[in-house]
Amino acid sequence: MTENEGQKRTIIVGGGVSGLAAAYELCQQSAPFTLLEARSRLGGLIRTEQAGGFVLDAGPDSLLVQKPGALDLCRDLGLTDRLISTLTPRTAYVLADRLHRLPANSVLGIPTSIAPWLTTGLISPLGKLRMALEPLVSPGGADDESVGAFFRRRLGEEVVERVAEPLLAGIHAGDVERLSLRALFPRLATAEQTMGSLIRAMRHARARTPPAPDGLFRSLPGGIEELVTALREALPAPSIRYNAQVSRIEGRAPFRVILADGEVLEAEALVLATPAYAVADMVRALDPELATLCAGVPYMSTATVLLAYSSSAVRRPKTGSGFVVPRVQRDTRLMAGSWVTSKWPGRAPPGQILVRGFLGGARDPNVLERDDDTLRAETHDTFARLLGIDRQPGLSRVYRWPRAMAQHEVGHLARVNTVERRLAGWPGLFLAGAGFRVSGIPDCITDGRTTAKAVLSWHGEQFTDN
Ligand SMILES: Cc1cc2nc3c(=O)[nH]c(=O)nc-3n(C[C@H](O)[C@H](O)[C@H](O)COP(=O)(O)OP(=O)(O)OC[C@H]3O[C@@H](n4cnc5c(N)ncnc54)[C@H](O)[C@@H]3O)c2cc1C
Repeated sequence: MTENEGQKRTIIVGGGVSGLAAAYELCQQSAPFTLLEARSRLGGLIRTEQAGGFVLDAGPDSLLVQKPGALDLCRDLGLTDRLISTLTPRTAYVLADRLHRLPANSVLGIPTSIAPWLTTGLISPLGKLRMALEPLVSPGGADDESVGAFFRRRLGEEVVERVAEPLLAGIHAGDVERLSLRALFPRLATAEQTMGSLIRAMRHARARTPPAPDGLFRSLPGGIEELVTALREALPAPSIRYNAQVSRIEGRAPFRVILADGEVLEAEALVLATPAYAVADMVRALDPELATLCAGVPYMSTATVLLAYSSSAVRRPKTGSGFVVPRVQRDTRLMAGSWVTSKWPGRAPPGQILVRGFLGGARDPNVLERDDDTLRAETHDTFARLLGIDRQPGLSRVYRWPRAMAQHEVGHLARVNTVERRLAGWPGLFLAGAGFRVSGIPDCITDGRTTAKAVLSWHGEQFTDN
């Protein structure tokens, strides 16, 4: 009798970071699993290309420290000593006609102290006055509202237009007037209710936990994909199947998992860690109502363009991480840009400057209809203007991300609650990943690991019942 014989089998669909984190947790508990990934590589949206001494993050490039999931996993994988910090923490810009340094001491444009905001040219004197009145604004109701509506109500239109909207576009590629405050920033909603003022709440939080000197973000010397490689190496190779696209699911624990090539697998528990629209396709025959709910989660397409220049070609190099662009700024197609070599150490050979443009999202939904040359030229033109670059890039890469970023819009939490209620009718079926309860790598990792624990306890209940 083999070690795992008699144990209930779990299939995880999707080898992005959510599915990998679920697999890692099962592996830690010596529970057997098979992970099915449609593509020939793991990582999903996480991809780093190494070329000619450059480290090119095609998708995500940062791990947010405040959310513990990623750093805890790095610790468990023995990667803590390899974590790197940003070179100049807390230096970022907003491109509003010219580059304005984002005042220090702010969280999404909410000041934690007023002084640095007094001198910025980013907000007009009237806009600053409106901001300063924030503590006098009465709290809103308990209903969900858009992030735009919330910031407008509390801090005024200019903060929405010039700070909150561009920062959110840079993170979620979404429309600030549709993204849900309660899904994405529940702590801001709570802060308003409990402290009556965001500025007061931020100041209070800052006094209790002063900002870490090495900033809010971490990465790894080999780019974010180093985390995926470490996860892959920690998992038993035979448990991972590549080029294994699931087309549909049938039955009830045990489920029948039908692959695109017709192969059928069976599992008592299933974790679907794919985008919500892929979940919809897989469960349509099983539960059409669940499929409709999942299909209703909107996704945005984006592109990242990496360009490298000889440093002698860059007349006005910048420090800090990069810039975000307000929607009203009409002279660029970029939503955001990073000066990669000023943001992270070790991303380019000596004498080279690497930059990255981020395009698409809600304000440019047809971005992927433009060809690579066009996307490259749009990115080069913006950086050339901002950094005084007088030559074409020596290296360039265009990465396309169709339907990549789930949009947690107003009503998302209600949708997810309804999804959970329907799932209760399918014991053994679990969902994880960025389409549902979470967004961003750290929370996807936490979600994957928590889901694996729920799977184990469900298996345990089955053993008890039998
Ligand atoms: C350009 C960009 C920049 C980003 N920057 C950051 C950042 O700096 N920091 C951060 O924290 N987050 C960032 N994010 C968000 C972050 O990448 C995601 O939240 C996270 O990677 C989502 O992981 P996931 O496993 O849930 O989904 P995915 O990465 O989408 O993985 C899903 C996997 O499922 C597979 N799959 C789909 N359908 C099937 C099927 N039918 N059968 C089998 N397999 C299937 C896919 O091939 C894929 O591998 C960024 C995202 C993008 C696009």
